[in-house]
Amino acid sequence: MSGERPRIAFIGLGRMGEPMAECLLRAGYHVTGQDAVPGRAAAFAVRTGAEAVATPADAIAAADAIITMLPSSKEVAQVIEQSLHAFQDGQLLLEMSSGAPATTRHLGTLVSPRGVAMIDAPVSGGVSRAKDGTLAIMAGGEDQDLDRATPILQAMSTTIHRVGGLGAGQAMKALNNMVSAAGFLAGIEALLIGQRFGLDPARMVDVLNASTGMTNSSQKKFKQFVLSRRFDSGFGLDLMLKDLGIAVDLARQTETAVPLSSHTRELAAAAVAQLGHGRDHTEFARLSELLAGTELKARENLP
Ligand code: NAD
Repeated sequence: MSGERPRIAFIGLGRMGEPMAECLLRAGYHVTGQDAVPGRAAAFAVRTGAEAVATPADAIAAADAIITMLPSSKEVAQVIEQSLHAFQDGQLLLEMSSGAPATTRHLGTLVSPRGVAMIDAPVSGGVSRAKDGTLAIMAGGEDQDLDRATPILQAMSTTIHRVGGLGAGQAMKALNNMVSAAGFLAGIEALLIGQRFGLDPARMVDVLNASTGMTNSSQKKFKQFVLSRRFDSGFGLDLMLKDLGIAVDLARQTETAVPLSSHTRELAAAAVAQLGHGRDHTEFARLSELLAGTELKARENLP
C-alpha cells in the first residue's frame, strides 16, 4: 500500500456507511466516497472533508483499499462486475455488507486474478455504534489479508471476530440476525399476551431485562422503538428479511432442518407484504399486533 495511511474508497454511504466512513476520516484515512443516490457522496464530502466521486470505478482506481457497504450482495456484485477493470494489483477489498457468502466467494474469484485480496467483514451494532466506532465485526478471509485489514476495521469497531475463510463472516452475520429476529418476535408475542392478561408491557420489559427472558430486543428495542411507537431504529425491515433469507439458504445448503428459522423468515416476508417496503425492522411488531388484533400500549411513562 502506498504512503503511511491507505487511501480508502468507500462505496455505499447509507445509514451505516456514512458514519463508518466518518470513523475512518477521524482515524486519519483519506476517504473517497461514492453512492448511487445523486448528490449523497458530494454532500458527505462537503460536510466531512472527504473526497466524492461519481462512479465506483473512479473510487476504486485511486484506492489502496476498497470498502463496500451496500444493501445486499446483488448491489455489491453489480458494482464489482461493472468496475472490474478499475481494480489493481495489491489492493484490498473489504466487503462489509450483510451479504450472501456464495456470492462473496464468487466475487473473490473475480478480483483475485487482478491481484486483489478480498475479505468479508459485516458488522453488528446498528447506526448508533457505527457513529461511535464501536461496531462488532465478524470477519472472513485469509489470515494475512485479515491482518492487513485489521487497522482499518479497528477504526470502526471495538470487537473483531475472525470466524473462517471468505464468506464466513457473512454466514455468521446472517445467523446472528436470525437469532435476533426470532428473539424479537418471541418478546413481542409475550408482550401481547401479557397486555391481554392485564400486565403493563413497559413493566414487562423491565422484568424481562432483570430475568432470563432478557434479549438485545428487550434491552434496546421494545421500549425505545415499539412501545414509543417511534419505529425508527435505522435498520430496515427489507434488510432484515434479506438476512433471514441468507440464513435459511444456508440451512438448505447444509441440509439443516430449521422450522423455527424458516417460520421467522416467512413471517418477516408477510410483514413486508402487509406493511410495504421501506419500513423499519422494529415494525415487525406491527404484524404480530395485526395477527393478535390489538396494539401494544405502555401504561407507564417511557424514558
Ligand atoms: P442503506 O439502504 O441505508 O444504505 C445503502 C446505501 O447503498 C444507500 O446509500 C444506497 O444509495 C447505496 N447504494 C445502493 N446501490 C448502490 C450501488 N449500486 N452503487 C453505489 N451505492 C449504492 O442500508 P444500511 O442500513 O446502511 O445497510 C448497509 C448494509 O449493512 C446492509 O447489508 C445491511 O443489512 C447492513 N447492516 C445494517 C445495519 C443497520 O442498523 N442499518 C446494521 C448492521 C448491518
